[in-house]
Amino acid sequence: MLSPFSCPTLEGTRDTVALADPVFISDLHLSKTEPDTMAGFFRFLENEAAGHRELVILGDFFDYWIGDDASFTAESIVRALRTWSASHGLFIMQGNRDFMMGERFAREIGAVLLRDPAVVTVGDTRLLLSHGDLWCTKDDDYQAVRRRVRSVWWQWLVMRLPLKKRIAIAENARSRSRARKVEKDPSVTDTDPAAVLAAARAARADAVIHGHTHRPSAAQLGENVLRIVLPDWHFDGTSPIRGGYAAFEDGRPVLRTL
Ligand code: MN
Repeated sequence: MLSPFSCPTLEGTRDTVALADPVFISDLHLSKTEPDTMAGFFRFLENEAAGHRELVILGDFFDYWIGDDASFTAESIVRALRTWSASHGLFIMQGNRDFMMGERFAREIGAVLLRDPAVVTVGDTRLLLSHGDLWCTKDDDYQAVRRRVRSVWWQWLVMRLPLKKRIAIAENARSRSRARKVEKDPSVTDTDPAAVLAAARAARADAVIHGHTHRPSAAQLGENVLRIVLPDWHFDGTSPIRGGYAAFEDGRPVLRTL
């Protein structure tokens, strides 16, 4: 039987990964329908990211992921990530679009699959990392779906479907997720600051970095906790170009726009 989600344990104080000089990105939503965003990511690897030691991807890197057995559909990205990981560290976390990404894909690209949430250290700074959707605690329907699709039985069933069927399910889920975003009040779909702060305190974190909401910001959250929300990336079409990442400057994480 397939066990796609045995992730390395990074929660709490045990097995905390020490990073030297990381860059953090999330929500690129890479897909063949957005070639300019994909090209933007390749440029980012060669330019802004290249001088850093580790790349940390905090979910929704792909617009959807139908299983590690379909990684051939993302051949150019696999190649770029393998090239990167030959000389840099690579860490990847599942988002709510690419939650089917597992150990097999992580191995293929030379990455460590991070659990959500994960704690890492950079020098003296303790960082709590997450995709962020687990802190949308006010959206009960969403959390119910999240639990279902991350259960072993649901994923076991889906992985037995042919690729074409899995693509249809992913496309359908994507359009429903868009419709929900339009219907629901942003105060419901956004992360709950109290939940984020409680998680940061429990992890004794100095800073939290997450994505998911597509509302980039860098601000203090309560006392002594810095929160960075990463932007989504979008380089295609007529709507404004956007993208960005977080990196360390003078021992603190900062948000940078591309
Ligand atoms: Mn997301």
